[in-house]
Amino acid sequence: MTARILIVDDIDVNVRLLQARLEAEYFEVLTALSGPEAIAACARETIDLVLLDVMMPGMDGYEVCRRLKTDPHTQHIPIVLITALDQPSDRVMGLDAGADDFLTKPVRDLQLFSRVKSLARLKLLTDELRVRAQSTMSLVRDGDILGRIGNGGASGHLLVFEDGDGTADRVQRFLRSEHRVDSAAEPGPVLKSPETAALDLFIVSLQAKAYDPLRLCSQIRSNEALRQIPILILAEPTDELRTVKALDLGANDYLVKPIDRNELLARVRTQIKRRRYDESLRQSLRATIELAVTDPLTGLNNRRFLETHLPNAIDRARADCKPLGLVIADIDHFKRINDGWGHDAGDSVLRQFAARLKESLRASDLACRFGGEEFIILMPEADEVAVRSVAERLRRLVADQPFDLKGEAITVTVSAGMAMLDAVGDDAETLLKRADRGLYQAKNNGRNRVIALAA
Ligand code: GH3
Ligand code: MG
Ligand code: MG
Repeated sequence: MTARILIVDDIDVNVRLLQARLEAEYFEVLTALSGPEAIAACARETIDLVLLDVMMPGMDGYEVCRRLKTDPHTQHIPIVLITALDQPSDRVMGLDAGADDFLTKPVRDLQLFSRVKSLARLKLLTDELRVRAQSTMSLVRDGDILGRIGNGGASGHLLVFEDGDGTADRVQRFLRSEHRVDSAAEPGPVLKSPETAALDLFIVSLQAKAYDPLRLCSQIRSNEALRQIPILILAEPTDELRTVKALDLGANDYLVKPIDRNELLARVRTQIKRRRYDESLRQSLRATIELAVTDPLTGLNNRRFLETHLPNAIDRARADCKPLGLVIADIDHFKRINDGWGHDAGDSVLRQFAARLKESLRASDLACRFGGEEFIILMPEADEVAVRSVAERLRRLVADQPFDLKGEAITVTVSAGMAMLDAVGDDAETLLKRADRGLYQAKNNGRNRVIALAA
């Protein structure tokens, strides 16, 4: 995999050394010699990862980090702080500034490349989601979704896998002021429980004896319901190779024992924040898809949805040898309502009509607004008697109770045509046409009635 990496360091030779090593691994490298230069580069360029020196004159790395992480345009770019100091308090300061990770000088290849690769891979995924969410943002009317990771990493629900040497207890004690922490002695049942999918983070110790922690990482990553949940590894200082392996398998971050409470809190917060960020992007996508197939006025499915869905419903009815009924309902003299009471009143009648329509349906029926004042009900596994009774029920629900227009009661009626799927000859088009001819006859025969035409 490749990525565009920005190296930020005030000492030119440091920049060039790191640049040479990354370029030798085919990463694309940009450089900046100061904080402000780095911020300008992130605003101007597409950057996949920032390697940021902490000690710089003027604006230091923490400040650069804070600024990039509070700007909605750059907050998604992973930042790795590079520090000469190796005190837990410095790490915590960096993570609190929003850094995704840190490396200690001298930076060794193993750490450099494992961190760079795992963060760049994550960024790729987030980018993909961002692009889709952004292009449809105005539709979702939730333009703030990308900026809304604010309280991000607090009050998570975590699961620590026991390793037999008391780590789970310690982790629970360290984290319980901020998070809900459960523990599990054995991965098997946990991976199968449906509740596990709602977790914010797994913590896996490489010391576990009762099960293979690396296999556990790979099982989580290949589990459809769990693959988006971040994994934090706890490693002994001597565990370097297995740590790298775990990161390769999809673990998101690691912590070397002895565990520093503040570092643990900060890393957990960072992972949960990222998880929630990605999750809100996914939600916005789901909402977008929902919108694309929904009629905004009535909340029913729209014509686009029906046209995609109808052929599938027909195939399924044929395969299962089950009946399928279709009703087209059209409000009578709707134009008069618009002409007499105005377009808004017309809209209100459409909404009230849709509410009554929903009332007349069974759970398995699908209602959609096909166009202006024309609606379709698709009824899987319903025989002719059932379809007719639903259509009749709708007709009565509309005609028997006047509609309310700003306090004024007006009578509305509806005409409908219905058709049953023919065992051999029908496709979506012929089925719709037959129901439509029924509707045409209902209109001609005086409206406020249901007419069924045989195939
Ligand atoms: P018929 O009984 O033969 O169905 O007569 P009709 O007046 O209901 O049918 P026609 O097709 O002549 O008129 C339908 C009207 O519905 C015309 C159109 O302006 C109006 N219409 C279509 N969509 C909307 C909408 O979203 N809101 C409102 N208020 N009116 C709409
Ligand atoms: Mg009409
Ligand atoms: Mg019409």
